Amino acid sequence: MSVRYIYIVIFSIAIVGLSIVQYQYFRIGVNLAGVQFDEKIAESLEAIKQGLLQKDELTFLVGSAMTKQSGNFNLGLDSIQDASTYFLEDFIRGKLIQNGAKLDFAYKLYATDSTLYLQSSGYSLDTNGLLNFPVEIEGYLPSLVNKDLFIELQFQNVNRYLLSQLNGLTIPSIIFLTLIIIVILWVFRAFYLQNNLITTTNEFINNLTHELKTPVFSIGVATKILEEKGTEAQRPLVEMIRSQVVKLKGQIDKVLELGVIEEKKGVIKKKEVELKPMLMELAKVYEQQADFLGITFNAVFKGDEYWVSADQYHIENAINGLLENAYKYSDKVKNIRMLVFKSDDHLYIEIEDKGIGIKEQDVKKVFDKYYRVSDGDKHNVKGYGLGLHYVKRIVHLHKGRIRLTSKVGEGSTFSLRLPLLKR
Ligand code: ADP
Repeated sequence: MSVRYIYIVIFSIAIVGLSIVQYQYFRIGVNLAGVQFDEKIAESLEAIKQGLLQKDELTFLVGSAMTKQSGNFNLGLDSIQDASTYFLEDFIRGKLIQNGAKLDFAYKLYATDSTLYLQSSGYSLDTNGLLNFPVEIEGYLPSLVNKDLFIELQFQNVNRYLLSQLNGLTIPSIIFLTLIIIVILWVFRAFYLQNNLITTTNEFINNLTHELKTPVFSIGVATKILEEKGTEAQRPLVEMIRSQVVKLKGQIDKVLELGVIEEKKGVIKKKEVELKPMLMELAKVYEQQADFLGITFNAVFKGDEYWVSADQYHIENAINGLLENAYKYSDKVKNIRMLVFKSDDHLYIEIEDKGIGIKEQDVKKVFDKYYRVSDGDKHNVKGYGLGLHYVKRIVHLHKGRIRLTSKVGEGSTFSLRLPLLKR
């Protein structure tokens, strides 16, 4: 699993976890708001009870409605009933607001023998989802009718009220959670686009360097021929072309190799590829130029298709590097052999030369960054000591292995092993 997917999984778990925690807080908040609500209602009921204890304008009016006596008011019984219902509702609302419970309610005033005296318009007999709080009224009013008297408050939409109490918590946490998700998604998107850009740039560089290598190689061979066959007067010019071509080739190699050597991410783009055509093409170039280069080149390919998961450009470049070294570090006998075969689910590519060889103490070090064998320059071969380091990194990035056997004066064999795809 790539690092990106690990990040996405961690992020998703974190967001789900955070949402669960927020939900739990929210539930605790709703419960607390519920407890607070009950307290406020209990206090309001007590205040209502106290407020209706004595005979005053309100209780007198309500009492008249209850006993159906309109004589004191010069009004019809219905009007007294309506006025009582209205003023009692107003009184209850006042007590609720005083105790911090500002929400819609309905009420009824009744006796235990089920006589209904007053009832506000919104009162519902269907108690489903409604909260009812009865309180016994004492004092003046019950004494008028000589019955146990109750006021019952009824609340609808209590949940909405409780939620509104938590708005200061829920709305900010939803906003902040959404902001976090948006920002992280935006970061992922930017990360994805950047990765895509890096991949496209790397592919472009790989393509470009690959396309440049062949003409540069051909110019190199052509100048070598001119060097031998050209006139004396042409020699300085040919020499100049040759040195510039060497420089150019060095720069091209560096562009392709630098990303790998500096361990930049996304430089290697592996695909399932069949390497045989590329290897044969590479061998063909050396076979065709063998006479011009003054080498004996021999390539043997055993077995049919070589399917591996690889970045073909880099594998080709690495093998080309080994072939170039074989040529560079061969003295008089320029005898190069390339052997490719399959064994135990692996592909083996061996490059063998009969060149100057490498001392035992240097065999391990030649793969190190910038390492050059100290007498390497004797042979007038210029280099940066990066080629074999690059080859080793490429092989490792392909889960392969590289071995070197060498004897001074006799030659060297570089053996490269890559895992084959099971098909
Ligand atoms: P460069 O060729 O630029 O010096 P390399 O990393 O390709 O860098 O090689 C490191 C050293 O290993 C070279 O300096 C050379 O001395 C030695 N070397 C590499 N390939 C061969 C070879 N085929 N035969 C002998 N010596 C070699």
